[in-house]
Amino acid sequence: MTTHAPLAHRPVKLAIVGGGAAGMFAAAVAAERHIPCLILERKARLGSKVLMTANGRCNFAKDISPDEFLRDLGERSCAEFVAEAVRECPPRQIVRGFQSLGVRTKRMTDGRFFPADEKAATIVHAFGDLLRDGEVPIISNCAVTAVKPLKNGFLVATKNFTLWAENVLVATGGVSYPKTGSVGDGQRFAQALGHKLVPYRPGLIGLETRDPKVARLAGRRFEDGATKVLDASGKTIFEYRGEIDCESFGLSGAAVYNAQRFIEHYERERVTGDGNRATGIAVEASFGGMTMRLDKINPRPLKEAIVTLGGVDTREIDPHTMQSKLVPGLYFAGEVLDIDGPTGGYNLTLAFATARKAVASIAKKEKTP
Ligand SMILES: Cc1cc2nc3c(=O)[nH]c(=O)nc-3n(C[C@H](O)[C@H](O)[C@H](O)COP(=O)(O)OP(=O)(O)OC[C@H]3O[C@@H](n4cnc5c(N)ncnc54)[C@H](O)[C@@H]3O)c2cc1C
Repeated sequence: MTTHAPLAHRPVKLAIVGGGAAGMFAAAVAAERHIPCLILERKARLGSKVLMTANGRCNFAKDISPDEFLRDLGERSCAEFVAEAVRECPPRQIVRGFQSLGVRTKRMTDGRFFPADEKAATIVHAFGDLLRDGEVPIISNCAVTAVKPLKNGFLVATKNFTLWAENVLVATGGVSYPKTGSVGDGQRFAQALGHKLVPYRPGLIGLETRDPKVARLAGRRFEDGATKVLDASGKTIFEYRGEIDCESFGLSGAAVYNAQRFIEHYERERVTGDGNRATGIAVEASFGGMTMRLDKINPRPLKEAIVTLGGVDTREIDPHTMQSKLVPGLYFAGEVLDIDGPTGGYNLTLAFATARKAVASIAKKEKTP
């Protein structure tokens, strides 16, 4: 680690590493609560991945209660970990928050919320305005290279300078679509500080198949598709109705993504002592009047995944504060953590809710002598 002399004689209260969904939300909450903070962002602009969401339309939340949200996460450990954060920052509050910033919103019949102009840039601009009004410094083109704990805070190292911060929030995202800036740095910082990482897997991604019927239909979209996941005995263990798209490589679309995510979690819970995953899982996909069975589950590569499964192990993070149980003053939010949800605005909501939780607990700490 190269460290320059720290920039200031006083530490900044909060350094936010990563200006994606979680980092922007965290900075907005910090500004509202008068916690001096700044954002360090690898890319030239904030929110590169947010701009890609829902094909550039940004499905940022869903019209459901916190209980419904937590139920839909499925995986128990993730739901338990984020429960408090989500109850304190429920999806409908996120919708009202954007509306209060002047973002006109559009609700789909299934409850998904988008900006009315279907432009993800509208959401990123809303954050931009908020951070400008809150005078939050943003240092872009600036990748953090290391985070080193001191007796009184942290040294946050970059190529050109080293910053002294009292608290650090790591919001560097997962590892998919690395061109958006999320390349696994936060997980590496965590690991260097003694944290365990849960191995990465792709989440919400298409399944490959060589079935010639799919190849013939490549480019077709079926809104009324459905998927079933069957266990080795043929029992249906997951069902989802939603879009299925035929691609040159196989199948994609919400119904396929959610089935694939279910399988990853199902298999993870059943990893055997020798590290092997559960076998015998099959997917039945119904669309366009036919039903097709995939006996071999071949997800597309992680770099193309909508969400990264795995990351910083949440057992070492306090769910009441998002603070590391190992390194006081170090906080995590968003996809850098081993948390994920299905398609439908769940992953942005998770990034926002965990970010708010981290900053709210820093604010509380400030008030407590
Ligand atoms: C194609 C696609 C479509 C999606 N659609 C949806 C959707 O419609 N709804 C939904 O809810 N979710 C969607 N998601 C998922 C959602 O975008 C992510 O879960 C969410 O952006 C995660 O937020 P984050 O802040 O944790 O990470 P990110 O948004 O990835 O932000 C991380 C930021 O950290 C920066 N960074 C990384 N390392 C460093 C470093 N060392 N120093 C400084 N900065 C660094 C990165 O440049 C990046 O800007 C989609 C994802 C993809 C890929």
